[in-house]
Amino acid sequence: MDKERKLIIAGNWKMNKTVAEGLDLVNGLKRELAAVKEVDIIVCPPYTALSEVSKAILDSNIRLGAQTMSEHQNGAYTGEIAAGMLKEFSVRYVILGHSERRQYQKESDALIAAKAVAAHAAALKPIVCVGELLEERESGRTEAVIASQLEGSLKGLTRAQVEETIIAYEPVWAIGTGKVASPQQAQDVHAFIRSRLTALYDEAISRRVRIQYGGSVKASNARELMQQPDVDGALVGGAALEIRSFSDIIKNSI
Ligand code: PEP
Repeated sequence: MDKERKLIIAGNWKMNKTVAEGLDLVNGLKRELAAVKEVDIIVCPPYTALSEVSKAILDSNIRLGAQTMSEHQNGAYTGEIAAGMLKEFSVRYVILGHSERRQYQKESDALIAAKAVAAHAAALKPIVCVGELLEERESGRTEAVIASQLEGSLKGLTRAQVEETIIAYEPVWAIGTGKVASPQQAQDVHAFIRSRLTALYDEAISRRVRIQYGGSVKASNARELMQQPDVDGALVGGAALEIRSFSDIIKNSI
């Protein structure tokens, strides 16, 4: 691989898969992907499947992520799950600020930043999502929106923590719609994110941060997207729900 950053491909199962269905999926992925060393592979099941999936992937090259978490460590927050609880299941990554949570749970940049601080405090790697709406792109505001989400969602992190944070660029108009950003559109925003990281921190940090693209990634478009110089991986939704489509994305990305 000629990129200095190793590819990282994560599957976001969202609110899908019972425990039994999740086990079928990861057992199939284990069989298909046992030989893969070039990509960090992550699955992000719903909370209810974390325990069993965690056990099933123990002896594999697949790592575990969660889809969100609380900014608090413990206490009277009914329905919430803390970073320390995720650690009990060997969770290593956590998606924060997915556009569905920004939209339906009204998560703000400040809240996402507080969650990222809590994730790092528990040695979990956050995958912080940013992305513009269709009308924001069409009115020429993509860069302004991304810059503001990026700065706001990383506030309070140390430089060392920023370096260990993964950014997912997920244009909202491309999530679950079948409309994928062109490789050039993805590359342009990824390069912009890297330039903002240089401005906010420094070039060494911006070079090391991994930036995933998300939005209708499939086996047929993964290769070209992953070849872009600033695209370091993918956050996959729909196509992460089946053994064949997710493993083909990974194989085609190598
Ligand atoms: C996502 O859920 O983050 C996502 C990118 O979904 P999809 O791949 O289905 O567009």
